[in-house]
Amino acid sequence: MAGPADPSPERAAPPHRAGGGGAAAADLIVVGAGAAGLYAALCAAREGARVALVSARPLAETASYWAQGGLAAALAAEDSPERHLEDTVTAGRGLVRHSAAEVLCEQAPERFRDLEALGVRFDADRHGNLALGLEGGHAVRRVAHAGGSATGRRILRQLSAVAAGHPGIEVLEGRRAGALATEQGRCRGLLLDDGRAIDARAVLLATGGAAALWSRTTNPPGSFGSGLMLARAAGATLADLEFVQFHPTAVVGLPGREGFLISEAVRGEGATLHDARGERFVDELAPRDAVARAIFGVLASTGATAVHLDMRGVDPDRFPNVVAALREAGLDPAAERIPVAPASHYVMGGVATDLHGRADGVPGLYAVGECACTGLHGANRLASNSLSECFVYGRRAALAGLDELAATGPPAAAELPREPVAPAPSFQTRAAMWRHAGLERSAEGLRPLHEDPHPLARLVAACALSREETRGAHARAEFPESDAELDGRHTLVAPGEDRPRAIAWA
Ligand SMILES: Cc1cc2nc3c(=O)[nH]c(=O)nc-3n(C[C@H](O)[C@H](O)[C@H](O)COP(=O)(O)OP(=O)(O)OC[C@H]3O[C@@H](n4cnc5c(N)ncnc54)[C@H](O)[C@@H]3O)c2cc1C
Repeated sequence: MAGPADPSPERAAPPHRAGGGGAAAADLIVVGAGAAGLYAALCAAREGARVALVSARPLAETASYWAQGGLAAALAAEDSPERHLEDTVTAGRGLVRHSAAEVLCEQAPERFRDLEALGVRFDADRHGNLALGLEGGHAVRRVAHAGGSATGRRILRQLSAVAAGHPGIEVLEGRRAGALATEQGRCRGLLLDDGRAIDARAVLLATGGAAALWSRTTNPPGSFGSGLMLARAAGATLADLEFVQFHPTAVVGLPGREGFLISEAVRGEGATLHDARGERFVDELAPRDAVARAIFGVLASTGATAVHLDMRGVDPDRFPNVVAALREAGLDPAAERIPVAPASHYVMGGVATDLHGRADGVPGLYAVGECACTGLHGANRLASNSLSECFVYGRRAALAGLDELAATGPPAAAELPREPVAPAPSFQTRAAMWRHAGLERSAEGLRPLHEDPHPLARLVAACALSREETRGAHARAEFPESDAELDGRHTLVAPGEDRPRAIAWA
């Protein structure tokens, strides 16, 4: 089987016939109001489409709102999309789907300018020029911030204000997608958790990631992969679920702040990592997998629960919300080192899509943002590429979704399934995932996860077990090296199947 096809090359967007014919209640349903969902909804509405935007949780509980670092785009004079691509491919450890990463790096600058046009104000230096930050794995300064480390919050507040005022967008807040409605294999709409059905030309999932399936996480509790399970139940293929990025520097041991993330950008500005003896032990600007694994190694060999981040030399005004949060928790980063350790942060895997966000296996269904897997991150996401992905692919999928034909008949009768398709994980599942599917995995630890009650936990374990090598974010104790035979081979789980297959994507 070939990977998800991408039959339609990038083209000038044709005029969209919003609302034309059929029984659709909306042209496009967008599920999720993080960066990907809000921006996709706006892109569709700006084309004249009627959009239903469904969001389970308030804005402040999306991962997008919590984003600190920024968004990566080749904006500096000495930078180029080619250099950005080179760094993305290097970080992805032989697994980046080149075509998908190329789209990201080429189109990120354009999306950045559109965000500015929508009213997002990015940080400038004292001469009024755009201030770009340096982060791990980037060869040049390439990361745009807003409000220092409040980037996600600033972007989301502005996008949600514009979306709320747009007459083409109906916001359904506090509503959860309970199931996707399909007819002869095509997605025709969805069912909300209150039993209401909405019919549309296309449904775009922007439901975020699944890092909260692990107990120690930087993510909001709602990030448990509900979109992945909805898509799978509708017949979509999932990909690369074994690749879960562990952020190296999440705060340890502070009640109420456990897992609070200290952005990579802080290390970009000179913060250093130290073991219990005060020695530095890693290049702080190496890609995330390397830094996280080095910390894991120190913790495993010493029995310590944390290493220490020294940010005393960093200007506190550059990271006002990080500094404020630490001070609130009783730590003064200007005077003392901060205890940190890795935490589950970002899932590279998701609903397998083509380069326009089309879900593999279900016409009319799209996935963008962290719930999608285009293959662009490979085995390890380059820092700050995910917000850029939300905007680049959010727009591409929204426009492609509007090209779907409107349904001609009445919506298919559909009912909510008796059992929730996408249940929240229990405390036990989350603890077991941290123990057995964490920074280092082994067959012995992963096998019992096959019996876990949570369906996504079982699939992650199956994918992690099937990949008998160490690559990027996925480390197997019994297979400490990468296997060259698996270069470019993604792990696909077809609907209804539990056994993943390793397949090369074009
Ligand atoms: C602390 C932190 C810092 C980060 N910093 C950066 C950074 O600096 N740069 C960067 O590029 N990336 C960063 N990331 C990653 C990045 O923020 C995320 O990958 C990205 O924001 C995901 O956006 P999204 O729109 O796909 O999902 P989210 O922002 O998570 O939004 C998901 C939405 O889907 C809704 N939803 C979920 N399930 C359902 C359902 N069944 N029905 C209805 N609604 C549903 C949720 O309520 C929410 O509205 C960070 C992540 C975290 C946690």
